[in-house]
Amino acid sequence: EGRWFAVRVAPLGTHGLVLVLAEDLTDMRRTEAIRRDFVANVSHELKTPVGALSLLAETVESAADDPDAVRRFAGRMQIESVRLNHLVQDLMTLSRVQGDEPLPDLGPVPLDEVTAEAVDRCQIKASSKDIELATGGTEGLRVRGDAELLVTALRNLVDNAVAYSPEHTRVVVSTRRCDDRFVELNVTDQGIGIPEAEVERIFERFYRVDPARSRQTGGTGLGLAIVKHVTSKHGGDVTVWSKEGSGSTFTIRLPLLDPPVPAALKTAREA
Ligand code: ADP
Repeated sequence: EGRWFAVRVAPLGTHGLVLVLAEDLTDMRRTEAIRRDFVANVSHELKTPVGALSLLAETVESAADDPDAVRRFAGRMQIESVRLNHLVQDLMTLSRVQGDEPLPDLGPVPLDEVTAEAVDRCQIKASSKDIELATGGTEGLRVRGDAELLVTALRNLVDNAVAYSPEHTRVVVSTRRCDDRFVELNVTDQGIGIPEAEVERIFERFYRVDPARSRQTGGTGLGLAIVKHVTSKHGGDVTVWSKEGSGSTFTIRLPLLDPPVPAALKTAREA
């Protein structure tokens, strides 16, 4: 693909001289194309669950005397409404964290609760693929932050882990104190992994690895941009380790709220 230029020609004085200005539009065109894709993806992502829900509502009505069918349809309706819910949450979250302003009113947030809630929100989708969601690691760690934003960020990682994993696999969410100042949340899957050449770009807004491979999983390309913005607003970061064909680990690192009291100070206090 070549580069695109806008060329402007302006006369300079009366001697027939002209000024030629060339502006490189390649990046702008690329951004424009990505944005157009995004609108198409969001519309598609909205249309799919809404369409499925109305169809399921009709079907469940006509299956009223078959309890098994009703249960099955109700399960599908749950999956679709969760999907819709997550999309709306994501759009709202991104608009909250995109700007440069610091977040107001940050309070202590227990990471065990963040993990439990994020896992809970993905449970239905995971069960539908027989993917086991496991949690583990150090308990009782806290950060200063906005609980809902942190849940949305972690939920996106778990959602992705489930979306990009085959059936009957395992996703593990674990918490670990890495040193005196930071804590890590790791989400590990046994999924398709990310090609090395793409790893750099996946945190960009709207970016999706190979739309063809992502098509059947759905998605908007918002998830990882949300994770990146939310963690940086909390003074942390997000990184990924991945191997194509065997799985990925996404790591959110956040400053600890209660760093341990240095040993010397502790003995002095206890004395
Ligand atoms: P999407 O809505 O496409 O999932 P994200 O921003 O959440 O958008 O992710 C960007 C891209 O990164 C995805 O399209 C997918 O190709 C890749 N990706 C994210 N998480 C994983 C994962 N756990 N395993 C494999 N690929 C992943």
